Amino acid sequence: MADRLIYLDNNATSQVDEKVFESMLPYLKEEYANPSSMYGFAKRSSDAVKEARVKVRDFFNASNEKEIIFTSCGSEGDNMAIRGVLDMDKSKRHIITTKVEHPAVLNVYKYLEKQGYKTDYINVNSNGELDLEQLSSAITDDTALVSVMYANNETGVINPIQKISEIIKSKNKNTKFFVDAVQAAGKIPIDVQSLGVDMMAVSGHKFHAPKGVGALYVNSKTILTPLIIGGHQERGKRAGTENVPYIVGIGTACERATDNLKYEMTEVKRLRDKLEDGILKSVFNARLNTGVANRVPNTTNIGFEYVEGELILLHLSDLGICASSGSACTSGSLEPSHVLRAMNVPFTAIHGSIRFSLSKYTTDSDIDYVLSVVPGVIEKIRNLSPYQEELAELKRRKNL
Ligand code: PLP
Repeated sequence: MADRLIYLDNNATSQVDEKVFESMLPYLKEEYANPSSMYGFAKRSSDAVKEARVKVRDFFNASNEKEIIFTSCGSEGDNMAIRGVLDMDKSKRHIITTKVEHPAVLNVYKYLEKQGYKTDYINVNSNGELDLEQLSSAITDDTALVSVMYANNETGVINPIQKISEIIKSKNKNTKFFVDAVQAAGKIPIDVQSLGVDMMAVSGHKFHAPKGVGALYVNSKTILTPLIIGGHQERGKRAGTENVPYIVGIGTACERATDNLKYEMTEVKRLRDKLEDGILKSVFNARLNTGVANRVPNTTNIGFEYVEGELILLHLSDLGICASSGSACTSGSLEPSHVLRAMNVPFTAIHGSIRFSLSKYTTDSDIDYVLSVVPGVIEKIRNLSPYQEELAELKRRKNL
């Protein structure tokens, strides 16, 4: 096993920021009161929740902190928004989403399909960009909800949310618009008012808060049926005693993310581009799966032709490098990811596609190390590939 750890899987989860951790500590120890209790001791906890709610409001640029609901994760926010808004008004039966959403949205749509909803799944092109014309023509008077992710978790491709909102409102002003912003938070600016969205979900652990806390923005014109029914917490929208330390943590993470945004969009992007350019230059027949698409600054998805992604990951893991592939090992067969399939990534590259996702903790020396080992890893695996003839032909064509 390597004695170093190069963590390039920040779209899976991220390291907790030290300041986030410190801000949580008092509420894990001495400040343990239930924020709903009446005594002064509890007021300190309820004040901390209030303060965090203001920080999250500012992060979303929401107009009012009453529009923020604390959740346990991104999946909960996705479920609460989609199911909650449809449950409130069952008169319309048509819903739209994209083919490349996270399962936390796609599987909710599959569930709703079984409940009798008519669904449309919008295509993306080979760069992962959404077909806006198809989206526009899919919206009808019966469309209750459109759900589009802000940035894709596997490719980092950013959807033009403001434009999509305009399209939706011009076709049917009663259609609600939900945005899963789990992979956008902390990477690009978020402004729910200028984007024109009705609901937006984020997840703390993707931007340096711990796992187990998220937030959902719901504008004041949108009413949801709660998923969790019980006490009056979160103004009756999500029952359950507030997770005070984690709520404080996501509040701090929001503040830190705003402060760090410029760094993310310049330095993290520089390191991502260095990694990407370095790999594309040093490994023959490696392709950038997203082409020229607009992406979040921390993500790259590279297809290594004629190699199995899982083998690459195992070799990288032995060298102390954490990355990820879009494949899911289902029933013994390695299924390529639904995102890369929707993009029609060629079969020669789809199985060998790797996502590297950086963060503010990634350094130049991390990237130098990865660039020093990746070509050798790919060469080693290709030497064992059953596609020797194809590889030799490709090398001949490239005069290698
Ligand atoms: N949505 C997107 C785009 C994601 O990438 C993820 C997690 O990877 C989720 C939702 C689910 O978030 P969580 O793991 O916090 O439930």
